[in-house]
Amino acid sequence: MTFIDANHLNVKEIRAGWKGRQDNARPELTEGRHRLARLFYPAFFINGTFRACQLSLAFSLNNLTTAMHPSLATKTMKSKFSILTTAVAAILLSLPLGTIAKEPEHADAPKVSPADALARLKAGNQRFVAGKLQHPHQDSKRRAELAKGQRPFAIVLGCADSRTSPEVLFDQGLGDLFVVRVAGNVLDDHALASIEYAVEHLGAQLIVVLGHQRCGAVQAAKETIDSNAEAPAHINSLVTAIQPAVEATRGADVEATVKANIDNVVEGLRSSEPVLKKEVETGAINVVGAYYNLDTAAVSFTEKKKE
Ligand SMILES: [Zn+2]
Repeated sequence: MTFIDANHLNVKEIRAGWKGRQDNARPELTEGRHRLARLFYPAFFINGTFRACQLSLAFSLNNLTTAMHPSLATKTMKSKFSILTTAVAAILLSLPLGTIAKEPEHADAPKVSPADALARLKAGNQRFVAGKLQHPHQDSKRRAELAKGQRPFAIVLGCADSRTSPEVLFDQGLGDLFVVRVAGNVLDDHALASIEYAVEHLGAQLIVVLGHQRCGAVQAAKETIDSNAEAPAHINSLVTAIQPAVEATRGADVEATVKANIDNVVEGLRSSEPVLKKEVETGAINVVGAYYNLDTAAVSFTEKKKE
């Protein structure tokens, strides 16, 4: 199901505008990434220590080999034994290093495919709708596991509205969802940087843009634009972000605008360069829209927009 029949030209304009914003804001985005790196990369220091230990072990193996040789054998045997220990050392050095460098936050948990991640979210929301919550992954055992690292199976860009907490709507727990929340679930550079981080370094392969019924931010944007007014203080930045959806749904109700806004943000993520676009094109990740109905508690998901 696609929420709206969004005007194709309009979506392209939004996409072009979004790319322009990305280009203009690149230094800030880069700085954002550095900040995230400083926050999340202690594993690299552990990795360095680990490598030093591995080198020591490799040298110890070689020394042990040399010590054993005089009583054993000829130069040829020594040479063969030396090759063997060198090979063992090489394996010790390369295997964990590759793993840790690629996935610094969590080396154990397998990645969850976009389809499986979506199925998990749907099942969790069905439990929420039915009032049969399991409250998974919220005990001290889970907390202790996560102290070592995280591997969230999905990313949610949701509205800041207090009634729409993704962990509750999808009946998930600690370490399950990487959540970015801002009023109107709009996409800015900080949100995008966070999402890129979760895709590239935490291994999340599904991105969900979660909007909801009677969204106050969308309603305010609609009313502000319809009355040719200007929202107070920083709220106007939200109005500007939601404006393309408002203009694409003139004359329709606020729910049409909410869904158009979700679609626009999904498209913004799908076409975001240099990271997300290529991941979407190869099928490594998927981006879907989702609409939460306050009345029924049900979340409905969009399918990929037909180009
Ligand atoms: Zn909202």
